[in-house]
Amino acid sequence: MKRRLVAGNWKMNGTNASMTELQQLAAAYPSASTDILICPPATLIARAADLTADSAIRIGAQDCHPAPSGAHTGDISAPMLADAGATAVIVGHSERRENHDESSALVAGKASAAHASGLTALICLGESLAEREAARTLDIIADQLAASVPDTATDADTVIAYEPIWAIGTGLTPSPAQIAEVHDFIRARLGGRFGPDAAGSFRLLYGGSVNPSNAAAIFAIPNVDGALVGGASLKASDFSPIINALE
Ligand code: 13P
Repeated sequence: MKRRLVAGNWKMNGTNASMTELQQLAAAYPSASTDILICPPATLIARAADLTADSAIRIGAQDCHPAPSGAHTGDISAPMLADAGATAVIVGHSERRENHDESSALVAGKASAAHASGLTALICLGESLAEREAARTLDIIADQLAASVPDTATDADTVIAYEPIWAIGTGLTPSPAQIAEVHDFIRARLGGRFGPDAAGSFRLLYGGSVNPSNAAAIFAIPNVDGALVGGASLKASDFSPIINALE
């Protein structure tokens, strides 16, 4: 039985003062039946990894460069993240695809770099509101999935996060039927590419306005193996009930 995963993406939020939230989480989850991941900004990864070392909390990053080192001012490589104590990295978040013009090919390169450093890649996919309204959601997801997931990906090193852009930070969530449709589609596409057995083992997260009130209903949707949480991951008092809804 695959372990489900609740991941928190702090985005560009958090300073040393935020470590009290992480300490609360670490104290609340010395062990857990689900995987718990917090992705703070890169500046906090090493400290966060130290503070959570004796708990069930694992620390991830929010992005990496596809190259292991070199003349890329301001960028951070996957080996550096692993060295700082990260065990995973988010790649292809829609905010990076939009703000930094990231293509799916670049995202696949980042995922491969993560794998080469022993990091789990959380690969994000999602349609815009205009694309959904034009009934293009599944086409967009198919394209992003095909081009963003490396051929060498496995269920052990790759997690897929479906994050409809219009649901991120808006308080809007798709209906359970809409989430199920996309997650079923992703599972089927993974099956076509990696075989049905492997496809069943990949973890598929939903992300976009997950909060303590809607988490249990979202986790009850077939083919939802956890969540990628933004705003509600910043405070332990919000994130804990989401974890508990999955435990
Ligand atoms: P919110 O949970 O704030 O909508 O953000 C979702 C997200 O983008 C996580 O990566």
